[in-house]
Amino acid sequence: MESAAKARRAGATRRVSSSDIVARMTAAILQHRLAPGSKLTEEALADVFGISRTKVRQALVELAANRLVTLYRGRGAFVSRPSVRESRELFAARRVIEGALIKEFIAVANAKDIAFLRRHLASEKRAIRAQNLNLATRLLGDFHIAIAKRAGNQVLAEILCDLVSRTSLVILLYGRNDRLSCSIEEHEALLDAIAHRNAAAAVSLMRRHLTHVESELVLKDKIVQTPNIRSVLASISSDMS
Ligand SMILES: [Zn+2]
Repeated sequence: MESAAKARRAGATRRVSSSDIVARMTAAILQHRLAPGSKLTEEALADVFGISRTKVRQALVELAANRLVTLYRGRGAFVSRPSVRESRELFAARRVIEGALIKEFIAVANAKDIAFLRRHLASEKRAIRAQNLNLATRLLGDFHIAIAKRAGNQVLAEILCDLVSRTSLVILLYGRNDRLSCSIEEHEALLDAIAHRNAAAAVSLMRRHLTHVESELVLKDKIVQTPNIRSVLASISSDMS
């Protein structure tokens, strides 16, 4: 039995790839379990996930390419901390891209796409009613991604996924803890404009919605407390088993 357990453990270790670590770390950052500014040492990551430092480095480079992690020469890797200026630029970029995407989406959306968004909106409402804030936050972000993925431009959809992830860090840093990032009523109004194929209204609603999300933030530079990083990493790693 003991050897079977050992073999299973060894098998699990072999199966963990750098992309598994990237997926885990991305989820942990977006679920706000790893705070912006946290230092990610190669040694701690290699220990906790049971992988080589080469794989850890590969994962960190990939996370840095997605802008969720920042690599500093001589200082190592840190969970990114978007500045106030970068945060404003992210919202400005989203207004441009999502304004264009929603127009393209309306041009190509079929009844199935609209039904999908209606079901998604219902899930958002259920999560909010159940006061499951983590799930609600994720679903509210996914609403934007769902539109992007169905607009028929893969490159813009990929850019938007990246921007939504980075915005999630901004909301963690500068958001108010007791408020959700997006307003469900605004998502509802967007969906109505989409269903009526009113592109002009949808573009304007989307831009106003993003401005509203930005205006809810307290965009001032601030100090963030970094928690005990090893214990956070250990809890992320234990989710993998
Ligand atoms: Zn929204």
